[in-house]
Amino acid sequence: MTTLRPSEMNRSEATPIARVGSRIGEFWQAMRNSPVAFRLVWSASRGAALFGIGLMLVAAALPAAQAWAGKLIIDSIVIALEEGMPPMDGLQFVLPYLMLEFGLLFVSSVAGHIRSLSDRILQTQVTNHVNGLILRKAISLDLCFFEDPIFYDTMQNARRRADTSAVTIVNSMLQTVQQVITMVSLIALLTRFSPYLAVLIFLSAIPAFLSQSQHAERAFRAVNRRAPEARLMNYLEMLLTGVDYVKEIKLFGLGEPLFQRYQELFMGFYQEDRAIAERRTIAGLGWGLLSTLVYYGSYAWIVLRTVTGLITLGDMTMFLSVFRQSQHSVRSLLDSVNRLYESNLYLDNLVDYLALEPLQATSHNVLPAPAPIRQGIEFRNVSFKYPSTETLVLRNINLHIRPGECIALVGLNGAGKTTLIKLLTRLYDPTEGQVLIDGVDLRDFDPVSLRQRFGVIFQDFVRYQFTVRENIGFGQVDAMGDFDRIIDAADRGGAAPIVEDLAAGYDTMLGRRWEKGEELSGGQWQKIALARAFMREAEVLVLDEPTSALDAQAEHEVFLRFGELMEGRIAVLISHRFSTVRMADRIVVLSEGRISELGSHDELMAADGAYARLFNLQAEGYR
Ligand code: ADP
Repeated sequence: MTTLRPSEMNRSEATPIARVGSRIGEFWQAMRNSPVAFRLVWSASRGAALFGIGLMLVAAALPAAQAWAGKLIIDSIVIALEEGMPPMDGLQFVLPYLMLEFGLLFVSSVAGHIRSLSDRILQTQVTNHVNGLILRKAISLDLCFFEDPIFYDTMQNARRRADTSAVTIVNSMLQTVQQVITMVSLIALLTRFSPYLAVLIFLSAIPAFLSQSQHAERAFRAVNRRAPEARLMNYLEMLLTGVDYVKEIKLFGLGEPLFQRYQELFMGFYQEDRAIAERRTIAGLGWGLLSTLVYYGSYAWIVLRTVTGLITLGDMTMFLSVFRQSQHSVRSLLDSVNRLYESNLYLDNLVDYLALEPLQATSHNVLPAPAPIRQGIEFRNVSFKYPSTETLVLRNINLHIRPGECIALVGLNGAGKTTLIKLLTRLYDPTEGQVLIDGVDLRDFDPVSLRQRFGVIFQDFVRYQFTVRENIGFGQVDAMGDFDRIIDAADRGGAAPIVEDLAAGYDTMLGRRWEKGEELSGGQWQKIALARAFMREAEVLVLDEPTSALDAQAEHEVFLRFGELMEGRIAVLISHRFSTVRMADRIVVLSEGRISELGSHDELMAADGAYARLFNLQAEGYR
């Protein structure tokens, strides 16, 4: 994560000189991302980057050349007057210089336009490239990142201005080089008048520069610090505008109260931003006054020397223009450096984010996961705690699931059933112990081939706002084109009758997000999800509350077919319905992370323990 910078340490106690020193130190620190920006831009578009450099060189040399052309014009006018040339001859004498100046002006204007066009093109390419990097990284990270709020702050900070920062850095670098060339050429002309003036121009711009960079950094820190609140604002916006929430928001009258919270957060941000902007403006005004004073002092000096005949009228024109331009160019130079600094700060966030690495270790000699599974799946002394918490959620689990067996997990809410499934499917690794397939640790399998072995539906399965065909086909993406297989999966999941009733059949768009989208009921969605799980020729089918939204008849039908569908394969299911659970070969009762009972329905009923109690409780409810 972002490291503490010298500026964050006791700023108030530091002397002004130490403060300037630490400011410069921070500068160099921040600049270390510049090569990253160049690489980003370079890999997004080489052509545009090289083109930018070419244009920069042209633009850099122009101001000095223009000032020189101005001098030539005035001097030639003076000569023409002194020599008493007739008007036409005088004009002819001056004309080439006028043409020269016009030519330079033309080039400068064309170069400016082409540059803004190429900037825009480059920006689009880099944005696309950076977004791609951010999304690819998200795809590569494991589940635990997504269950950790800090990760979202990191990702959000990375997305903020990361793409524009990269281009700004490269442009500011180019501008810096350009300004340096311009400045050196102008100052070379100016030193002909007085070297002191050159130094004065430079020095008078420094305080404004330091103060601007400090304010830019403050703004940056404020934005980073506020990431959690900004996320809360996004969440509130989503609650107030999303179709999934509107029913409750209306019926509980939550609209206004939530909007108030949104407003309060907004006002907090606004006041802080405004204070920073005001301080920035006041400092800018103060330091701007200084450079104005320097400007008029020098102006008077140049005029004085012309009046006393020390320099020619042409010289005076040139010096005044060079002087004005030098001051402008020093300021622009320092502005570019400041922009460079600020953008480097933002790019830091992207660098931090892209440096995240998946936590799950895979051994080097990866094996393909076995098909078929011959000895079964074994949990051996497995304990587990989530990375973000301290308590063990699973304790010393030992369980052997045999090939072809159907296991039901039962237990109160929070007993650890879903967590057990997360370990089985290797969304997490055990804190202690091992999960093995045919005696081999899951960590020794190739993760992609391992996931191929599992067909999974979670309780919070995804309702993809796509077509039915895609919703089912996603179960086995590389078989999306195999329509027969999709129809077969729909049939097995019990979704076929639903599809028959839809206007466009398998091409019907589901959900309310798109025009012509058809919304399904909870149970219908669940059947689609079941079909998705059946799309995969999985060795192990994992169903977390697969029938919770189905009516009793639909559930009965699904499970009647379940036995034949699971022929020879392993099924692990979580259910709160004992009518479903009793059909399993064996039932695992989890309580507080431990296996408290294990056996077939008849065995557990005979044992008359927790399972029997819960079973009777539910059966009574139906009487
Ligand atoms: P069940 O599926 O039996 O209802 P879970 O496996 O979902 O139970 O949860 C078991 C325990 O783990 C609960 O106490 C829950 O609060 C905790 N838990 C679940 N997910 C996470 C997570 N991502 N981070 C921290 N704790 C979690």
